[in-house]
Amino acid sequence: MTFEGLGIDERLIRATTELGYVNPTAIQEQAIPVLLSGTTDFIGLAQTGTGKTAAFGLPLLHVIDAAAKYPQALVVCPTRELCLQIVKEIELFKKYMTGVSVVAVYGGSSIGLQIRDLKRGVQIVVATPGRLIDLIERKAINLEQIKYVVLDEADEMLNMGFQDDIEFILKNTPQRDSTWLFSATMPPEIRKVSKRYMKDPKEVTVGKVNMANKSIDHQYYLTTAQHRYETLKRIIDFNPGIYGIIFTRTKIDAQEISEKLTREGYDIDALHGDLTQGQRDKVMGQFRDKSLQLLIATDVAARGIDVQGITHVINYELPDDVEVYTHRSGRTGRAGNQGICISIIHAKEAYKLKQIERINNSQFHKLDIPSGKDVCRKQFFHFMDKLLSTDISHGDYETYVPMLAERFADVSKEDVLKRVAAMEFDRFLKYYENAEDLNLRDKGRREPAERGGDRSSTRERDGGRGDGRKEYSRGGSGGGYSRLFVNLGTKDGFFKASFLQFILDMSDLKKEALGRIDMKDMNSWIEIEKGAAQQMIRSLDGKNYKGRRIRMNDADSGGRR
Ligand code: AMP
Repeated sequence: MTFEGLGIDERLIRATTELGYVNPTAIQEQAIPVLLSGTTDFIGLAQTGTGKTAAFGLPLLHVIDAAAKYPQALVVCPTRELCLQIVKEIELFKKYMTGVSVVAVYGGSSIGLQIRDLKRGVQIVVATPGRLIDLIERKAINLEQIKYVVLDEADEMLNMGFQDDIEFILKNTPQRDSTWLFSATMPPEIRKVSKRYMKDPKEVTVGKVNMANKSIDHQYYLTTAQHRYETLKRIIDFNPGIYGIIFTRTKIDAQEISEKLTREGYDIDALHGDLTQGQRDKVMGQFRDKSLQLLIATDVAARGIDVQGITHVINYELPDDVEVYTHRSGRTGRAGNQGICISIIHAKEAYKLKQIERINNSQFHKLDIPSGKDVCRKQFFHFMDKLLSTDISHGDYETYVPMLAERFADVSKEDVLKRVAAMEFDRFLKYYENAEDLNLRDKGRREPAERGGDRSSTRERDGGRGDGRKEYSRGGSGGGYSRLFVNLGTKDGFFKASFLQFILDMSDLKKEALGRIDMKDMNSWIEIEKGAAQQMIRSLDGKNYKGRRIRMNDADSGGRR
């Protein structure tokens, strides 16, 4: 199949040919002919990296009216990074089309400038939900004439708490001719949205939904909690050509590990919620152009990051949510490449592997943490490969050869190689000379992940939310949720996403601690892990919000505090 055969505009074919696209990908082949009609609703279930952006971007450019200078197409996606990525790709596709404008609107940057951009007469708006609603409320964008709405990474948007916002957007686009929804998975909430707002959608699945990407090798290393950091270092050292993302649960971990590794000479920087937009852009820029080899990030900060060529994803700790694992590992093994997802775990976490295996239908491989010797050997051969593949065709090296030959007349080739190796490796060899065994050795028993269903620990539950979201059971004791009441609601100017961000920022808790959030005009109810409830209450109760005193208490304990 070719792009011509799919029926898209010749100017778009010219642009994609220049980009090196020869054949459409599976999702493009199935989506483009449907979307070109402009009137058929569409659901595309496909992982990132399958060419989704072109699958909707090309048809959008084909169907919009370049002569009409108002927003006709709206692409909604979960994050700023994805928003910019989509705009960048659409800009490339429209290279030979005149009079077509596309604009990105997202939170965290000047709304004034974005309003000005919108006024220029754009046809395609690519937006994150929160900022879009802000713009709708300010009447800076008119959705009356929007004909096409694309929801990209719909499951990710729902994970982030944007469900109400999405429904709001769909309700406010009354002239919609068609809705195009793309998602990696199909949780019940998305099914609900599609039933409510879409008409006989044509549904297409590329690969298997809910299945982990087969091009990823899932590996794990078993160690003790206090050896986690050393193990991480050893993994990095054992993979000299690594270009990877390390995930931590907390921003403090991300920051501390990044600082420690930097001090020890590693090429790494951290990405977390405490950075300013400018700092974030700088780190991402360096990582993207590979002047930074490693990025360490929290899940929230890394959302939507789309970087090609990631060789390894490393879970410094396993996440609590299976879907988070899938999202993390999905950063590697993209666009036909192979990738490796490594998890560093200690014995108590091993049951989680079983759950991930079952839900993702993937298999973990247990590897031994390399010994100091293994690391040195690997580094040595990597260096020798580099030496052998160094390009010496440029430069005047030939002119130095006679001089070098004279200088090295009494030194054998073997000795030269040994000296080069020593120069490069002495520090390494010394460091690893007496390196300890970091593996947690299981004395005669099977590894926990290989044991058959340990019923109490591998049970799944959905936290009583009844929303089908999968979580690990928390080993029996201390599990479960509390429900908190708070006297803040939509009347205070919050949408679910901004409210979620607000309570997380105030409490310094992570999103994973939260369950369902119910917002009403004046009050809200928050489900939160029992162990985290007091921290949330302490952080918010009695504080001020826009001059009003926040009241927060356990909703089910009856009394006010
Ligand atoms: P996406 O799933 O949209 O993030 O795309 C993944 C990557 O594949 C992007 O870098 C695209 O530029 C690239 N890509 C998309 N479609 C094609 C195609 N038909 N041929 C080759 N590369 C493609």
